[in-house]
Amino acid sequence: MPIRPSQKLPALAIAVAALCLQPVTASAQTLLRDAEIEQTLRSYADPLITAADLDPKDIKVFLIGDRSMNAFVTGGQQMFYHTGLIMEAEKPIQLKGVIAHETGHIAAGHLARSSEAIGNAMVPAYITMALGLLAIAGGAGDAGMALIASSQQFAMLSFFTYTRVQESNADQLAVTYLEATGQSGRGLLQFFEKFRYQEVMAEARRSQYFRSHPLSADRIAALQRRVNAQEYKDVADSPQAVLELQMMQAKIHGFLEPTARTYSAYPVSDQSLPARYARAIATFRAPDIPAGVSQTQALIDEHPDNPWFHELMGQMLFERGQAEQAVGPYRRAVELAPGSALLQIGFARAVAAGGTPAALVEAETALRTALRIEPDNAFAWTQLAQIADSRGQPGLARLATAEAAFNLGDMPRANRFAQAALPILETGSPQWRRADDILEITRRAAIRAARDGNPPNRPRRQVSTVLPGGAAAPGLLSGVPVTVPVAAGEHDGHDH
Ligand SMILES: [Zn+2]
Repeated sequence: MPIRPSQKLPALAIAVAALCLQPVTASAQTLLRDAEIEQTLRSYADPLITAADLDPKDIKVFLIGDRSMNAFVTGGQQMFYHTGLIMEAEKPIQLKGVIAHETGHIAAGHLARSSEAIGNAMVPAYITMALGLLAIAGGAGDAGMALIASSQQFAMLSFFTYTRVQESNADQLAVTYLEATGQSGRGLLQFFEKFRYQEVMAEARRSQYFRSHPLSADRIAALQRRVNAQEYKDVADSPQAVLELQMMQAKIHGFLEPTARTYSAYPVSDQSLPARYARAIATFRAPDIPAGVSQTQALIDEHPDNPWFHELMGQMLFERGQAEQAVGPYRRAVELAPGSALLQIGFARAVAAGGTPAALVEAETALRTALRIEPDNAFAWTQLAQIADSRGQPGLARLATAEAAFNLGDMPRANRFAQAALPILETGSPQWRRADDILEITRRAAIRAARDGNPPNRPRRQVSTVLPGGAAAPGLLSGVPVTVPVAAGEHDGHDH
């Protein structure tokens, strides 16, 4: 299938150079990726998105590591949830209520109107953020994180206020979606009532969420009336759903809070599964890896079918330098949750460290599976390039490097590697056609870069920043460096 050049890429490519000049400031905000949390959030969001007559595949869900409570949508296609919001939820239905409300804003097109009102002032922030996502998309973790943190784009992106009419409209839609999925709107109501005091607070003291989504007594009353009339108003969260929320919260706490705080929030006297999970992670980060391993093994012994416990074990062993021992746990995690690109990549990294021909074949298979799930995952492309190189497949190695660069928004590099790949790939093969497509898509950007005195082989300036959280690696919860998929529509053309 021929590749259609993207409309947006040239603009993004231009912005790369400009961004490198921006000062870098430390920020408490980091884009995070974690297979378990993403799966749980998606399991909350997807039925609501479907109930809104939208396609879950079109809407990306991002997790931001930030203690403040916030949720917002951008571009009508991306939802962002702060870890602070997840930590604040007392029940899954509260979080689902907020997700349903955000879905209501997307379905009603509220963002589009707000953006128009703000006008061009918003555009640079969007571009900057998109670039941050691109850069972060794999490998170039530091650069991406710096871009994300550099000018508080997230705050800017959520720096608009919905009108009262939009808020009430989104509330009503939220209850409609909850009702359509057999769920209660009471969680949303509880959530608002919990923060009712915010209504009377000065604007500046309100949480960002309630600055963007202003609360009012009228609004709460209208929601109350609607929920009272709901058929499913008394439906409670299942024990399984409650456990999933608690496990997300335990994981966030364990990875992102200082370990002493986690031990204090989840004291040894608490032998619940979430408490033991949080402590195992905190112990691993302390770092006391042997104790972390034994605590995680106890969780696995009790729940052998939980993929995330196996993943945590794989991560601990891999980071301890025991890649060979990490293969087993990752293999089991992948068997239990085969649809997770992050787990496939984690497995590939561990197994590739073995270095044998069979190990490399297995790693390549896992990476190809990951790339079928997330075709724009630059980190997976980079790993694939290394493996192809080790296996003596220079054409594929160059093509995969071009793909990685393309998904990082580095068009000159993508162009150069696609050009290098073409003569050694079999003419007319799918890989050859893909290289040809990348060459075509990136041609203009490469010419422009050369003209502007930024030769394609000049490495982009590296920026570093203070990273929050103190997690084992920046932006990483689950053992794989931050890899953020590019928003749908930013480009297309991965037809293999
Ligand atoms: Zn709202």
